[in-house]
This record gives sequence, structure tokens and C-alpha cells, in this order.
Amino acid sequence: MTDRFLIIGQGILGACVAYELSQRQPNADITVIAAHPLNSGATATGASWGWVNAHTDNDQYYFDFRNASRMLWHDLLADHPDLAAQILPSLVYDLDPEALDAAFLHHRNWGYPVNLLSHNEIQQVTPIFRNAPPKALLTQGELGVEQHIVAEQLLAKSNATCRTAYVHSMILKDGTVTGAMTDQGAVYADKVILAAGHGIPPLLRRLGIHFQLAKSTGLLVRSTPMAPFLDHMIMGHEFHIRQSADGSVLIGGAFDADHGDADLDQAVENLCNLVRLNFDLPSDLEVHKYSLGTRVLPMDGRPKIGFVAPYDTLYALAMHGGVTNAPMAAKTCVDDLLGEPRDTRSLTYDFASSPLSFDPINKDSSDV
Ligand SMILES: Cc1cc2nc3c(=O)[nH]c(=O)nc-3n(C[C@H](O)[C@H](O)[C@H](O)COP(=O)(O)OP(=O)(O)OC[C@H]3O[C@@H](n4cnc5c(N)ncnc54)[C@H](O)[C@@H]3O)c2cc1C
Repeated sequence: MTDRFLIIGQGILGACVAYELSQRQPNADITVIAAHPLNSGATATGASWGWVNAHTDNDQYYFDFRNASRMLWHDLLADHPDLAAQILPSLVYDLDPEALDAAFLHHRNWGYPVNLLSHNEIQQVTPIFRNAPPKALLTQGELGVEQHIVAEQLLAKSNATCRTAYVHSMILKDGTVTGAMTDQGAVYADKVILAAGHGIPPLLRRLGIHFQLAKSTGLLVRSTPMAPFLDHMIMGHEFHIRQSADGSVLIGGAFDADHGDADLDQAVENLCNLVRLNFDLPSDLEVHKYSLGTRVLPMDGRPKIGFVAPYDTLYALAMHGGVTNAPMAAKTCVDDLLGEPRDTRSLTYDFASSPLSFDPINKDSSDV
């Protein structure tokens, strides 16, 4: 009998899981449901800067996981050169000088393709700097991914059935999750995979499971297309900048209403001015659009991937850095769903591994 898989979420994680499942079990019956258009502000995938990388904020275990995922992106791109992603070098100097030195040593010792450049070397590598920083990390083999386009491409390649619907709750029969109740009616499946980003906590709450995400937002500005001038991704103090293949410039910055930021238009203007101040641009920077995205950030900052106990037909994936992590997270998910052993680099990232973020609660005391 063909296994029926229901994936809730068409963001980069849901799309990668659908693709990986279709490769590993070609006869699988896969349905992927989403409530929102992919490029809408309602999804993290629609508001992401799309940098695939494996450095900073690492212990070695997380580094190994991210780096394995970076290499899986290379494999995906080799198999499908049409994917909307570019392999690019990065210049990183958004850390204080000691932290930059430490990051360089750690990551070089872990085998990451990284160098530490001086002011003059940076100016040579990226002549558009008005005044290059004193030093920066130069990494190779990272990617800039147009993740909302790639998600659509992978969904198309998976041949999954894609539907627009809002999921209200899981369907339970004799204590087993057998599907999801949507605003279009019931959808039944042998395995249900929650890749619903911020939709995961409310859906689990209805099962009496408390799963919390931290509050964290980020600003993303996209310019109108400009002549090609930037062949690096640059992580500077207070801004990230890269140029996508269509010429538009993507600028990432901070904006958090919960931590005192109030005027979004002013924050956009300040971010653009930082870029104008730091770089020689081929023409004036004009804003095409901007978005304020909410990160899918587990309380301990690490990915949560696994079956949601006590349900052995319910699986969930939630993480920040999801563009980087999606191929490895999807591989882990499909290993688990097919009962195959996990890659040792994924062993830490069980859904229930953090008591801070996973805590079965008494249903009577829930707010639902
Ligand atoms: C500002 C910002 C910058 C970022 N930059 C980077 C970066 O440079 N590199 C990187 O690796 N990561 C980055 N990230 C993180 C990355 O974008 C996310 O980790 C990733 O997009 C999460 O994808 P997802 O598929 O889990 O969730 P989402 O993209 O949020 O998708 C959730 C899906 O679930 C669906 N859904 C939710 N609830 C329901 C429901 N009840 N019924 C039906 N469907 C539902 C939605 O419609 C959507 O399809 C950034 C994030 C932000 C916000």
C-alpha cells in the first residue's frame, strides 16, 4: 500500500521535505497544504535574507549540521542548475575584533573554507567599499538563495499535490493522529508533518502540548534592480547586503517593536543610508519593497526535528536558519519517517530535546 504523507507548510522546510520524500520514496502520496502565499509576510520564508552559511553562533555540533546542509545545497544545485540560488563568497565583519579572530580559528580548525583578511586585502577583494573595515572573514562556497522561489521549484519537482487551506487542528482516532481538519474539510494521512513555522505552537497546543518560540523580528529591504556591482555577500555592522541574480539588492537589518523600535519607515531609510554611506553604488538605491519577518526561533536557538511524543504519526520541524538547514533537516525527517538511521550529525536535534521549548501540559489548563 502507498504511504500517504500530509505536510503542513509550503515554506522552505515543507518544500525540502516534500522533495526529499519524493526522491527516496517515488511512489509516496504526498500532499502539501499551506494557508499563505509563499512570498507573503506571513511566512518566514517570504521574509528571509536567504544566506546559506555555517559560521558564527556555533558549537561544533551545530556547525557540523549546518555545514552538512550547506554541502547538500551544493548537491541540489548540481542536480538542478535551474534552482534560484547562487554560490557566492562572503565577507563577514559584524563581530568585534576578538570575536572575529576566535570565529576564524574555530571554523578554520573545523575545516570551513575561511580566511581572515586585512583592511587592504578587503579593499582589493571588494573595491566598492568607501572605507573597508580593519579586518573581515572571507568564506567560500556559501549560497544566496531566493528561498521562496526555490521552495516553489522543489514543490514542483516533488510532484506533490499542493493545496491552499488553513489547518485548524489534527484529527485524532483512538489516540493516533490520522490527518488534519482544514477549512476545506478533513485530509487523512498515514504520517502528518508539521512544517508550519509559527503555525506549530497553536496546532500543538490543541493537542495539549506546549511548544514555545521566542519573539524575534528582522527587517528586509529589496531595491529595484541595479547594474551588477556586488559579487560577495557582506555581513557588516548593522546591515547585511547581497545582490540577487535579477539585480535587486537585498538588505537585512534590525527592527524589533518589542525592544523599543517604533518607526519602520525611518528604520528602512536608516538602513539604506548605511549602504549608501559604505559603498560606491552604480546608481541610487531605490526601495522596491520591504518586509518585517518573524523568525521561527526555538527558545534555545537550535533546530527541533522529530516525532512529537506521544504521537508516532505526527512529526514536526521548527528552526531559525531554516534556509541553511532545510536540506539536512529534510533528510533527517525522511530518515525518521522511513525508519532509517539518522545521520550522526542530526542526533541532537530531537523535537523534544529542550525542556524549555517542549513541555506537555495539562489540557484542562490550556487556553484553548
Ligand atoms: C528577517 C529574517 C531573515 C532570515 N535570514 C536567514 C538567512 O539569511 N539564512 C537562513 O538560513 N535563515 C534565515 N532566516 C530563517 C529562515 O527564513 C526560516 O528559518 C525559514 O524560512 C523557516 O521556514 P519554515 O518553512 O519552517 O516556515 P515558514 O516559511 O514560516 O512557512 C510556514 C508554512 O506553514 C504554513 N502554515 C502555518 N500555519 C498554518 C496553518 N494553520 N494551516 C496551514 N498552513 C499553515 C504557512 O502558510 C507556510 O506555508 C531568516 C528569517 C527572517 C525572519
